[in-house]
Amino acid sequence: MTESFLHYLWQFQYFDKKELITTTGELITILNQGILNTDAGPDFSQVKIKIGAIDWAGSVEIHIQSSGWYEHKHQEDAAYENVVLHVVWEENKPVQRKDGTWLPTLELKDRADKALLKSYQKLVSNTAVIPCQSAFENVNAVTRHSMIDKAAMIRLEEKSKQVLKLLEINQGDWEETAYQLLAAGFGFKVNKDPFLQLAKALPYKLVRKHRTKVEQVEALLFGQAGFLMAKTKDEYLTQLYNEFEFLSKKYSLAQNQLHPSQWKFLRLRPANFPSLRIAQFAGLLSVKENIFSALLEMENYKDLESLFRVQTTHYWKDHYRFNKRVQGVIPEMGADSREVLLINTVIPILIAYGQSRDDWSYVDRAVEFLQQIPAEKNKIIRTWQQLNCVATNAFETQGLIELYNNYCQRRACLNCTIGSAILKPVV
Ligand code: SF4
Repeated sequence: MTESFLHYLWQFQYFDKKELITTTGELITILNQGILNTDAGPDFSQVKIKIGAIDWAGSVEIHIQSSGWYEHKHQEDAAYENVVLHVVWEENKPVQRKDGTWLPTLELKDRADKALLKSYQKLVSNTAVIPCQSAFENVNAVTRHSMIDKAAMIRLEEKSKQVLKLLEINQGDWEETAYQLLAAGFGFKVNKDPFLQLAKALPYKLVRKHRTKVEQVEALLFGQAGFLMAKTKDEYLTQLYNEFEFLSKKYSLAQNQLHPSQWKFLRLRPANFPSLRIAQFAGLLSVKENIFSALLEMENYKDLESLFRVQTTHYWKDHYRFNKRVQGVIPEMGADSREVLLINTVIPILIAYGQSRDDWSYVDRAVEFLQQIPAEKNKIIRTWQQLNCVATNAFETQGLIELYNNYCQRRACLNCTIGSAILKPVV
C-alpha cells in the first residue's frame, strides 16, 4: 500500500461508501472530499463532511497506518488542528488531539476495491519504460492529449522558473539575463557550463559597446573564453589576439578569463565545436543592439527563426577551430540546432517574461511558436512512437518528454490522467 494510492482513493472516492462509519462507530457523510494539497500541511483542504449530526469543514489527512500521525509529529503542528477526518488504510493506534478529544478516523482497508488495488500494483511494478504501454492506446485521445498538454505546460513553467531565478541574480536585468541564457544555449548540452561562465565573465554592456564591429565582439568572446592565449602564424587569430589584448586591459577582464581546458571538443561533431559556436554567438550579438528586446519584438515565428540564421565572419566559413582550415564552405547553423535553441532558451524567456509581467500574450505567443517548431527527434520520442503516440510539433514533444521523465519514470501514474483513466474501477 502507498499513501499516493490512498490519496487517489479519497480524491476520486473509489471506495465502498455504504454505511460509512468512523472507527468509533459514528456515521460519516462526505459532502465534499476537498482539494488535493501538494504543498505543506494536510493532504486535502476544503473538505466538508458530516459526522453523526454535526457538519464539519476543514482538512483530511491520510496515512497508511494511523500511527503515522505521531510519526510525522502532526500533534505538534498547528497546521493540522483543522483536520476533521483522518483517513487511513488501517488504524493501529487511535489519535488524540491536543484538547484530549479523539480524532475521527475512517479505515479503508475493507472498503477499497481489491481489483483496483491489484491493477494499480501491476501498473506501478511493471518494468517497462512506459508502464502503461499495453493499455495506453485504449485510453481515449482527448484524455491522452490533455495530459500531454498539461505536462508540456509543467515543463515550460519549470524552465521559466530557472529564467526568473537567473533574472533575480541579475537584479532584474532582462538584457543581461537573456544574453547569459542564450550563451548557455549556444553551448548546447556539452559546453553549456563554460558558455554560461563566459557570459558571466563578460558583461553584455561591454559586448554591446562593440556590437557594430563583429571582429571586436569575437575578440572579446574568444579572448575571455581563453582561446587567445598565444599568437600563431594564423593571421586572423593574431588580429583577434591584438584586439583582445587592448580590450582586456581597457576593461580589466583578465581575472575572470576562462581556461582553454574548460572547453570540450572531444567526441563532438565539428559543427558543434565551441569555437564555431562562439563565432555564431558573436554573429547573433552583432545583429541586434538589445537581444532581449529583439526577442520580444518577434511576433511571428518566421522572423524569430530567421534571427537565428546567424552569419559568421569570413574566417569561420572554412574553420571549425583556430589554425585548422577545412576544404569547402562550412554551412550556417543547422535547423535542428536553431530549433533546440528556440525550444530550450527563447521560449522559456518569453514565458518567464509574460509571467513576470502578468501578460499572458507572451505565454500564448511562446506556445504558438512551439507549435510551429517540428517535433523533436530523440530516444524518448521514439519510445512514444512505438506506442503509436506520434507528436506533430515541439509543444507535444516537450509534453511527452516531461510525461516520460517526471511521471512514467517515477511511476507517478496516479497523478497522471492517463493512469487515472486506466485505473478507473469498473462499475
Ligand atoms: S505516468 Fe501516465 S503515461 Fe506514464 S506510465 Fe503511468 S499512466 Fe502511463
